[in-house]
Amino acid sequence: MTTLPRTRYDWTRAELAELLVDQPRYRVDQVWQGLHDHGTDPHVWSNLPKALRAELAEALPPALELAAESVSDDGQTVKWLWRLADGQQVETVLMRYPDRATVCVSSQAGCAMACGFCATGQAGFDRHLTTGEIVEQVVRARGRAAADGQRLSNVVFMGMGEPFANYDRTWDAVVRIHGDLGLSARHLTLSTVGVVPGIRRLAEADLPVNLAVSLHVANDRERDELVPINRRYPLSVLAEACRAYLDATHRRLSFEWALIDGVNDTDRHARELADYARPLRAHVNLIPLNPTPGYPVRGTPPERVLAFADRLAGLGVNATVRRTRGTDIDAACGQLRASHAGGGTTELPDPVRR
Ligand code: SAH
Repeated sequence: MTTLPRTRYDWTRAELAELLVDQPRYRVDQVWQGLHDHGTDPHVWSNLPKALRAELAEALPPALELAAESVSDDGQTVKWLWRLADGQQVETVLMRYPDRATVCVSSQAGCAMACGFCATGQAGFDRHLTTGEIVEQVVRARGRAAADGQRLSNVVFMGMGEPFANYDRTWDAVVRIHGDLGLSARHLTLSTVGVVPGIRRLAEADLPVNLAVSLHVANDRERDELVPINRRYPLSVLAEACRAYLDATHRRLSFEWALIDGVNDTDRHARELADYARPLRAHVNLIPLNPTPGYPVRGTPPERVLAFADRLAGLGVNATVRRTRGTDIDAACGQLRASHAGGGTTELPDPVRR
């Protein structure tokens, strides 16, 4: 990894105090509040002298530069493509519901997990995101939600990348989102394709965040193909790690299942899933696959998604059918970046509205 510039949300409070050592003590609070309570740029901190604001703007550069924004679902879903200091691009999605707002953040530029159906997996791995790059995605989304009078309550690590392949920076970001931005740990969800060492570390962690495992298929033969990391951490090993997480945290586990037409949506798949999920008392989230250029298979049609959910219920497993959000703005993992492939685009597309 090349050396990346330190950006504004990489700084701890102690480090900011060090940076401001020549200033009156209260400046640290002012800067901290500007960054974390207001999420604004140093240039607008009118309680600080102008020269200091300019110095701080220089010392604390933002991590994210807007490359593209798209809006869908009547303004309820906003997706951003950000350009990072080294030119990499990552995505963040804000999803608003009547009772809450959730941001979906990226943890890596690209991903090495190579799940064939995922646009990010198809493009390969570029680099880990820094703590500051992850935290700033939340700050930006919180700002947008606040501008519309809504409080950002939930963060899901379901954007680009595998959070447990970038564990330390991801966890550092979780600690800051909880401690510095003030979001409840119970409203933070880490999603993994099944990187077992990460699940085991999470079991020992001291914040009660939620765990989602992207299961998609519950037999090793088919999962080896669909989710290649399964060859390294097969289902039995994954289940043991999930058990350790449950025993240590007493939290609820969820399984993500992207329903793919004819691939993982048959009655046999439902039975295998039920056999796997029941002993772990896992909750299943069903979402029809969003087709991607590298995997042009349809998602399961709506009536069969509902039938699959009913079948699971009959087998004693709780399942929720997730609404797809932002399909018209390429809001599935990695798709917005893929449609801007080649990078360097500076124009903002017109917001897409239905
Ligand atoms: N690497 C992590 C987090 C990022 S992916 C993980 O695998 O959990 C977030 C979720 O989106 C995962 O459940 C992933 O399987 C799912 N996903 C990826 N591509 C998708 C697609 N084309 N359609 C529907 N879900 C997809």
